[in-house]
Amino acid sequence: MSESTNTQSVSQERKIVTEVPGPKSVALHERRNKVVSTGIGTALPVYIEEAHGAILRDVDGNQFIDCGSGIGVTTIGHTDEKVLEAAIAQAQKLTHSLITVTPYESYVKVAEYLAKYTPVEGPVKSMLVNSGAEAVENAIKIARRYTGRPGVAVLECGYHGRTMLTATMNHKAVPYTAGFGSRASDIYRAPNSYPLHDGLTGEEAAKRTIKFLEKTVSAGDLACVIAEPVQGEGGFIVPADGYWETLGKWCRENGVLVIADEVQSGIVRTGTVYASEQLGIKPDMVTTAKGIAGGFPLSAVTGRAEIMDSCPPGTLGGTFAGNPIACAAAISVFEQIESDNLLDEAKRIEKVFGGGLRELKEKHPAIAEVRGLGAMLAIEITKPGSLEPDAELTKAVIGYAAQNGVLLLNAGLYDNVLRFLPSIKLTDELISEVLTVLDEAFNEAGA
Ligand SMILES: *Cc1c(COP(=O)(O)O)cnc(C)c1O
Repeated sequence: MSESTNTQSVSQERKIVTEVPGPKSVALHERRNKVVSTGIGTALPVYIEEAHGAILRDVDGNQFIDCGSGIGVTTIGHTDEKVLEAAIAQAQKLTHSLITVTPYESYVKVAEYLAKYTPVEGPVKSMLVNSGAEAVENAIKIARRYTGRPGVAVLECGYHGRTMLTATMNHKAVPYTAGFGSRASDIYRAPNSYPLHDGLTGEEAAKRTIKFLEKTVSAGDLACVIAEPVQGEGGFIVPADGYWETLGKWCRENGVLVIADEVQSGIVRTGTVYASEQLGIKPDMVTTAKGIAGGFPLSAVTGRAEIMDSCPPGTLGGTFAGNPIACAAAISVFEQIESDNLLDEAKRIEKVFGGGLRELKEKHPAIAEVRGLGAMLAIEITKPGSLEPDAELTKAVIGYAAQNGVLLLNAGLYDNVLRFLPSIKLTDELISEVLTVLDEAFNEAGA
C-alpha cells in the first residue's frame, strides 16, 4: 500500500489558511466557467485535491470537515485504505470485460452480498448498473414487466434522480423538469408522512396515501409504490411509526410492488445496512447506490427472484454496468460492515451528533426539529414559533460554516433543511467542532 498511503497526509483536522474560496480555487473556477455547462451547479467552489476519512483538503491547503460525503457516497470515509487496496489490486488485473459478454467473479460476489444484506424476503437476485437514477429506472422497468401494469406511485418530497423518468418522479419541478419538455407518463405523486407538518399518525398518513392512490390511479393500474425510507433531498423526512405497516399491507393485498429507494439511506448510513429494516418496510425490490462502493460508481437493483427473473436475457444491462474495480471496492465495503463494526459507528454518530443537535435546538428557536437516523441527520429551520421555512437563514448558516472549515449541505422542498451526511470516520472531537461552528453561525445570525 506504499503508493496510496499519501492520502493519510490529510490530517483529521479543520484548517483554514486562505480566504474561502482561496486564490487557486478562484482561478480554477474561472477556467471551469469557460468549459463546463452552467447546468452543473456547485455548492461550494473550493477545488478538492485530496481527501481522507472525514476531511477534504482543497488546492489552497484549506481543510474542511466534510458533512456531505459527496452526497452520502463516502460513508466509509474518503480514500479508505482497504477499499483502495482492493480497487488497486483489481485495476492491475482486469478493468473491464462486461458481464453480458464475458463474466467475472466480483460481479457475482457483489450480488451474493446484496442477497445477504438486502431486506427482501425469500430468494433474491440483483442486477448492477452505474448510478442511482439508472438503478431506479431499471427497478421500474422490471416492476412494469412483472406486473404488466404501467402506474408508478411516488411520494411527496421524493427524489429519484435526473434522467427523464426519474426527474419526473421528483417532487420539485424546478430544477428537475421545468423547461425540459414532456414529462414521463404514468407517474403519480401521493401524499407522504411528514410528522412535523401533517401531525398525523403513521396509520392516518398511510390511509391518506392509499385514498389518493385508489381514487387517482386505482390499484389495478399500479405496478409499484417507490419511496425513500428516509426521504433524502426532500429533507431527511422519517415517516411516522406504522406508516409502512398500513401502506405495505395495502400494496400486498393489491399486487402493488413496494420498491425501497435506498440509494441515499442504504449501506450503513442509518445505522443498519438498510433503513427499511428500522422502519418496518418489507420491500419487494430495493435500489442501492451512493455508499455501496466507498467512492466508486456502482448501483444495484435487488428484488425477489421471481420478479427479477421476469426479464428475459438481453433486456437488462449496460456497457459500464458492474465495473470490476467498482465491484472490488464494494466487496471491501461489505467485508468491513462486519469486520470493522461499521453499524456501531453510524449509531455513535446518531448518538453524539444527534444529541448535540438537540442541545442546539434548545438554544436556537429557529431550529424547528432535529431528525434522522444514524449518520443521516438534519435540522429543519423555520421562522421561530412557526413552520414557515427560512431558506435565507439556512443559507447563511451554510455560508458561515464554509468560511470556518465545515462543509454543510441543504435539502428540503423549501431549501430550509440542513442535512448532515458525514462519514462514519467523523470523530467525536470533529463532531463537537461542527456543533460549535453551528452554534456560532446561529448566534451570528441572531437566531
Ligand atoms: C441520489 C439519489 C438518486 C439518484 O442517484 P444518482 O447516482 O445521482 O443518479 C436516486 N434516489 C435517491 C433516493 C437519491 O438520493
